[in-house]
Amino acid sequence: MKRVVLLGPPGSGKGTQAERLARKLGVPAISTGEMLRGAAAAGTPLGKRVEGIMLQGHLVDDQTMADVVRERLEQDDARQGFLLDGYPRTMPQAETLEAILDAQGTRLEAVVLIEVPEPVLVERALSRRRPDDTDEVIRERLSVYGKDTEPVAGYYRGRGLLQAVDGDQPIDRVTAALLAALGK
Ligand code: AMP
Repeated sequence: MKRVVLLGPPGSGKGTQAERLARKLGVPAISTGEMLRGAAAAGTPLGKRVEGIMLQGHLVDDQTMADVVRERLEQDDARQGFLLDGYPRTMPQAETLEAILDAQGTRLEAVVLIEVPEPVLVERALSRRRPDDTDEVIRERLSVYGKDTEPVAGYYRGRGLLQAVDGDQPIDRVTAALLAALGK
């Protein structure tokens, strides 16, 4: 499967696993968080617009994200497949993704969800120490995940696309479980 969305709460190890899976699948790992952090570090107009939002643990608006993702998925390397990390995070984003893929004459093939209990997430996030990883912001990001992103997982589950994997185990085991879920 070459067109895959990786879902999981902040601190679930999604970024690490996305890199590993993408390498195995031979597709680019597309992390919207990384793209936005890159834009912020480079001081682009997009970066300046989203920096404060990210630091608060809030979501960047769906329209901005649609532009970012559409442009990225239209690049040559993503035409043969992709591993999306951090998108979609809201129901409108899930609809946008479908529209982008429809326009390309393709569709999403699989969604994998990394599940981790909340106390483990908080502990992990605190040890990661990104600028948006203060205690208060972590809780905000987890609450945003529950409110906006869990419905996306439910939506994909309802469509029979979702496979959940236990993320509270050693990194290599999580990778193996994810690959198995993707038939690798
Ligand atoms: P991440 O590295 O995926 O945790 O993303 C870091 C931050 O970037 C998030 O807390 C959001 O502020 C922003 N972000 C990344 N992806 C999205 C998205 N799909 N929709 C809205 N905001 C996003």
